[in-house]
Amino acid sequence: MKLATFDAGEGPRIGIVTDGGVVDLALVSPRLPATMIALIAAWDEVKDDVAAAAGVAAHHALDKVRLLAPVPRPGKAMAIGLNYADHIAESGQETPKSQLWFAKVPTCINAPYADIEIPRTSNFVDYEAEMVAIVGKGGRNIAKEDAPAAVFGYCCGNDATARDWQFRSPQWTLGKSFDTHGPIGPWIVTADEVGDPHALEIRGLVNGEVRQHSNTRHLVFSVFDQIAELSQAMTLEPGDVIFTGTPGGVGIAMKPPVALKPGDVVRVEIEKLGHIEAKMAAV
Ligand code: ZN
Repeated sequence: MKLATFDAGEGPRIGIVTDGGVVDLALVSPRLPATMIALIAAWDEVKDDVAAAAGVAAHHALDKVRLLAPVPRPGKAMAIGLNYADHIAESGQETPKSQLWFAKVPTCINAPYADIEIPRTSNFVDYEAEMVAIVGKGGRNIAKEDAPAAVFGYCCGNDATARDWQFRSPQWTLGKSFDTHGPIGPWIVTADEVGDPHALEIRGLVNGEVRQHSNTRHLVFSVFDQIAELSQAMTLEPGDVIFTGTPGGVGIAMKPPVALKPGDVVRVEIEKLGHIEAKMAAV
């Protein structure tokens, strides 16, 4: 199932994306949760009703709604660094022996087709095509073998980064958390529909040119390793967002490095998950 947060002129709603368009869950049943986080939290109780709603005639054509980030304001967004071999090599780093985590603060989460800002205070904004895992029921100290059940679904993400800010401090949080620098979407594909999340083609394109191309089978630490590690430190909650790492081909590693410039169009495509696309906008 594909679950979206969208605006058809009446504010944020959640719905199911079907072949016919978008089914507005609020119009199917006012008893269903009204936000994606509430829907994920209540999933065990409501999933049968939601599945039945997928058979209802769509309320909106897909191109008549504005898609928002499927989880517009997650409780937290965590991201792993250096998690594909080719990206580690181009970064001149050793393969990490332990997982390298940083935060993207929740206010950086952005809609799947909204502009990404190039702020005047940064001279190098870059892209990172990534598969994003959305936490389901969550919990603490989740064993790796239990981790598949802890993932609600997956979507595309761009771990956009102000490289100058990232590297001027040993702590990456500011460089990774500029407003608009965390687009995700276009919707959540539920884990059951994705099947194996470690067998998906992933591509990052700038102005139609393929800059990144890999497969999620090349993740150094799997999604399930990541859930097990993170949940030792923090309680994972419904709708939390996990950026699972980027393959090689980022702009900073080009020779010479190439920063994104205003008007550039950055696209992330992942097999089974769809694509997100943003124009770069100077602010
Ligand atoms: Zn990243």
